[in-house]
Amino acid sequence: MFSYRHAFHAGSPADVLKHAVLLHVADYLQRKEAPLLAVDTHAGAGAYSLRSDWARQGGESRQGVLHLLHWLGQGDNTRKAPALIRDYADVLKAFDAEVWERLRQDDPSLKPGADLTFYPGSPALLARLLARRPADRLRLFELHRNEAVALAEWTTTSPLPVHRQAMQAGDGFEGLISLLPPPERRALVVMDPSYEDKADYDRVIRSLRDALRRFATGVFVIWHPVLQRLDAQQLPERLQRLGRPWLHARMAVGQRRERGLVASGVFVINPPYTLEPALREALPVLSQVMQQDSQGSWELDVGG
Ligand code: SAM
Repeated sequence: MFSYRHAFHAGSPADVLKHAVLLHVADYLQRKEAPLLAVDTHAGAGAYSLRSDWARQGGESRQGVLHLLHWLGQGDNTRKAPALIRDYADVLKAFDAEVWERLRQDDPSLKPGADLTFYPGSPALLARLLARRPADRLRLFELHRNEAVALAEWTTTSPLPVHRQAMQAGDGFEGLISLLPPPERRALVVMDPSYEDKADYDRVIRSLRDALRRFATGVFVIWHPVLQRLDAQQLPERLQRLGRPWLHARMAVGQRRERGLVASGVFVINPPYTLEPALREALPVLSQVMQQDSQGSWELDVGG
């Protein structure tokens, strides 16, 4: 039994990169009027309190999203910040304000703090964007029982109407295949395993191969850790060999630390053409602002 709980890592530098990319991609796909299916194969708990014991214990949001938002609040950094970062920050602030508003309906004495308190995970981010349109749908998978219970609870607060959103407490690799090809003929898939189970490296490749066979034009956003282990290092090359156009962004925010990852990547299959220029602008800023010990760095490649 694996013990991964995303609450420890919510708002980390890795989350910032992954979620900023995800928002950009989802937003781009919504420029076309036709309905969209979004699938989150490893959904986690939906949304997180950065004041929870777990989040404080992990402490990764202090270097990640909280640090980024503080930086944006200084001088005219917000005005000068790349659009990808500004758009991400706007969504976070709106989400936080809405959760506070809901809580204050029960207890008007509650007051939001100066810092962001509620952080949207990938389901909350996707639901927020999909809810802007009448026919987009969201499918969520979460395998582990406690996280699935938390996710089910989150779905009751989701802005999407119930008939456009479904979650399954089950395996997301298999669940994805059962949804493809989607009736909409347009899909955005987020694949975000924890890789705590080392079989995930192979399962990512196998399920994507299968998914692309059924639906080659889907847009797939795959998160991965940057680690010394061979299977982690080989993953990007194996993803490139799937034979579709791709974009690969990596960001490192330090050399090493006792807890948490210092480097991670996002690999996008069939990326929108707007993503590369947006990241060329945003990655230097993100890696510089969130770096510790002057070791921020980034890389961006495209191919296929
Ligand atoms: N995508 C979430 C976000 O960005 O907010 C975070 C997800 S977290 C990194 C990975 C999640 O996948 C964990 O909650 C874990 O319990 C779940 N998980 C692990 N193996 C899974 C599988 N085969 N299918 C579905 N969920 C799985």
